[in-house]
Amino acid sequence: MDLIKHYINGEDIEGGSRQGDVYNPAIGEVISKVTLGDLEVVNNAIESSKKVLEKWRYTTPAKRASIMFNYKKLLEDNSARIAEMVSKEHGKTIEDAKGSLQRGIEVVEYACGIPNLLKGEYSNQVGSGIDTFSMKQELGICAGITPFNFPVMIPLWMFPLATACGNAFILKPSERDPSSSIELVRLFEEAGAPPGLVNVVNGDKEVVDALIEHREIKAISFVGSSKVASYIYQKSASYNKRVQALGSAKNHMLVMPDADIEQASDALIGAAFGSAGERCMAISVAVAIGDSADKLIENITPKINNIKVGPYNDETSDMGPVVSKDAYERINGLIDSGVEEGANLIVDRRNIKLQGYENGYFIGPCLFDNVKDNMKIYREEIFGPVLSIVRAKNYEEGLQLVKDNPYGNGCSIFTRDGDTARNFSSEANIGMVGVNIPIPVPVAYFSFGGWKNSIFGGHNAYGMEAIRFYTHTKTITSKWPEGIRSGAQFTMPTLG
Ligand code: NAD
Repeated sequence: MDLIKHYINGEDIEGGSRQGDVYNPAIGEVISKVTLGDLEVVNNAIESSKKVLEKWRYTTPAKRASIMFNYKKLLEDNSARIAEMVSKEHGKTIEDAKGSLQRGIEVVEYACGIPNLLKGEYSNQVGSGIDTFSMKQELGICAGITPFNFPVMIPLWMFPLATACGNAFILKPSERDPSSSIELVRLFEEAGAPPGLVNVVNGDKEVVDALIEHREIKAISFVGSSKVASYIYQKSASYNKRVQALGSAKNHMLVMPDADIEQASDALIGAAFGSAGERCMAISVAVAIGDSADKLIENITPKINNIKVGPYNDETSDMGPVVSKDAYERINGLIDSGVEEGANLIVDRRNIKLQGYENGYFIGPCLFDNVKDNMKIYREEIFGPVLSIVRAKNYEEGLQLVKDNPYGNGCSIFTRDGDTARNFSSEANIGMVGVNIPIPVPVAYFSFGGWKNSIFGGHNAYGMEAIRFYTHTKTITSKWPEGIRSGAQFTMPTLG
């Protein structure tokens, strides 16, 4: 059986006494093992990063940009192969995997503009004969810890921008589907990045803790569940580290009575069931306002029944299995709890069986009506192919649900009324809002991040937020010869 190793200094390295199982979720079988690292492996990776950083921090931004241009091309040329690697270990369809890679490539494209993004500011004559200017400088070695659901897109939110800013980077991908994340780093080196600029250490909590505790790691970027995000945030802060930690979600879509129901329904089922609901921007709650509920249900029910569930390598599949047996059992348990608590399970495709894939972790799409805000299926992030409909009397009641939810990643509204849409955009206490757009993931030159329990730390992912996160600002105030030898001053300097 294949052993997935760490990737340090351009080489596959073993290290750590434990191994994890990597599954193909479509067949429910272990297809490879992954080495789980320890403190020693982390120390090796950091030593390698330190050496590379000595030179890398002095490379010109233009040189870094040229590597990013090469990298973008290489990622595009290898997209089919990378997508296959993602799908095999994650379960999502190939087309979906390609789409997620494309969203990651957008960030590489943004990093191609690094000379412009790193520009500082200059003020002439802030005082008599005195000029002030600022520059952005690298932090040192940064680390990224990423979730299973986007094994290429989310690492690409992180290391291209971190390294373009002059840092070295250590990636700790999800131990459930690490192969494609490692492949990204091999291709980065093929594009011209020096070996060791990005190192990959596989593992779990042991590696994460070792990274946070190490004095050479200057910043931690994390994406995953809120429980772990909160832990990472608090632990990193206790080590005085800069940290951005993006967490879980419970995204609502308001369907107003005046919405184009056909358009809203298509948008809703794609957003709820694409990638088997394993997206942090998936819509898991449809808030049907006024009399829109019955029309919506009538429209989406046949569509949900027609969703083709199948393995990633069947081109006709709309969605694949969920990632693991644990996820399969947890999601089925939540569906059971919804039934027990009195919600109406009006589309029930739980017990789907696919010939030849009897042991795969397939759960067909399910639809609940009359979900209430005290039910477990409403309160918890399901992260599976389960859509809940909550009926609300009016817009105000729907908006209140959004506001009261502890998560604040994304939300959307479907309406033909500009005033309602504008009010919603302004009042929702959510990081990313869509107006007649179900999954409002911002383009790379904006930034990605939620509010409330969906983020811990002050910086979003990618865009200018990332440039600020991965750099220190240094401000220099300078004065040249005249007057500089005027002797010591013992009063507080003023710029007169
Ligand atoms: P997870 O929190 O279980 O794992 C994320 C990473 O943290 C992995 O690399 C894992 O090895 C590590 N980890 C797990 N437990 C740890 C612990 N106790 N201590 C230290 N490290 C630990 O998340 P997941 O199941 O891989 O991903 C799904 C979750 O991620 C969902 O909640 C989803 O909403 C969220 N997510 C959020 C975003 C976002 O941008 N906000 C994007 C994608 C996924």
